[in-house]
Amino acid sequence: MLGWALGNLPGSNPQIRRYCVLGAVLPDVDGIGFFFSPTAYDQYHHTFGHNLVAAGLFMLFMAWRCRSWTALAFGALAFGSHLATDAGLSGWPVYLFYPFSGRAFFLSHSVGLSHPINIHLIYVGYVVVIALVVVCRRTPLELISPKLDRLVVSPLRAHPNACHVCGRGSNLGCTVCGRPMCLRHTRLRVSLDTVCEECTRERA
Ligand SMILES: [Zn+2]
Ligand SMILES: [Zn+2]
Ligand SMILES: [Zn+2]
Repeated sequence: MLGWALGNLPGSNPQIRRYCVLGAVLPDVDGIGFFFSPTAYDQYHHTFGHNLVAAGLFMLFMAWRCRSWTALAFGALAFGSHLATDAGLSGWPVYLFYPFSGRAFFLSHSVGLSHPINIHLIYVGYVVVIALVVVCRRTPLELISPKLDRLVVSPLRAHPNACHVCGRGSNLGCTVCGRPMCLRHTRLRVSLDTVCEECTRERA
């Protein structure tokens, strides 16, 4: 949720938002030992995923994939947010200079995973995600399907065009003939493409 929230800061785009979410969860790859044995988990969690080298590599990868330096800054925020919240809210230290140094980092006043503040923060996260729907007219559905997201937030967005059937305000268009149409006169294909009634009939 933090990755999604940061990815909605001004200057982002759908690709940057996807990588922000990825960057905010990626450090936990070093928790993979969990699937093998408790000792492997203890030994590697907060090591090769939770350090500045991994952060730098991810930032460069994201900048290269998104072809922008803005993406580098977003990558730093997303990845850094994970390291910072782990250092303050997980009860585990973060080994920022792994593999060069074993120095453990904690934020001052850091608390454990079971501290009630972590439960509260989950609720805050939900509120932020909902606030972003209202403010940015965007839901995390965009991560799976931008088409589905556009449909869901369509009622909340401006309706600058006139539906070619009824003249009502519209912000959707037929993907076949290009004419604008309101939600009521929109037919949906399995691919989630929006089509007008006429084009649906012609195809049938
Ligand atoms: Zn972590
Ligand atoms: Zn209409
Ligand atoms: Zn059409």
